[in-house]
Amino acid sequence: MSNSVEDMLKGEKLRYRMANTLRLPACFTIRFRLLNANIEQYMWPYMAGAMETGTWCKVRVGDGDDCDPANRTFHFSSENPERYEIVHEATHMLIWATHVGQTIQTVVHEAAAYLAEKLFTLYSGESDNLSNQPHLARPLAQLAEFVKVNTKDGKANVVCPPALVGQVIAILSGNRTAQNMNQGIRQTGIGEWWKS
Ligand SMILES: [Zn+2]
Repeated sequence: MSNSVEDMLKGEKLRYRMANTLRLPACFTIRFRLLNANIEQYMWPYMAGAMETGTWCKVRVGDGDDCDPANRTFHFSSENPERYEIVHEATHMLIWATHVGQTIQTVVHEAAAYLAEKLFTLYSGESDNLSNQPHLARPLAQLAEFVKVNTKDGKANVVCPPALVGQVIAILSGNRTAQNMNQGIRQTGIGEWWKS
């Protein structure tokens, strides 16, 4: 990955776009508890703030879709990812940032990120594309619908029902990917921004 001015500008443009996306009401409405991963709505504006300063969360374009918490860096293969893809990667970063010391299985991380992206599309009216995960679409939609209809102002986060979570996890675990889905990873945080 080169570090040309052009590449840096692409990353900077996307960083602004990520901050704007994370400030949308459709993001602020996303909250749930999925096994031991908990997403609270106030986390979204915190992450947007971290993106805006540019010193805490960086963006690089051109080397895959990934979140690198140790280096507080988002990687996107495209310079213009869909907003639900931004929400997906941001969810990974939020879990790393806010579950410090907890062990979270890779498949739980993925299920939470997919649920957040699906909820974003339900709340924003934008369309999703799960063509690379064809079997995931139906159970993910059922889970997201459950969370949506049961999320009420002033009430605690919806606990995702184990039967629906189990279906999503079974499909994600069955995918042949580079990641070991059943590996538990101790969340180490992403730096000091969360405490400041
Ligand atoms: Zn993911």
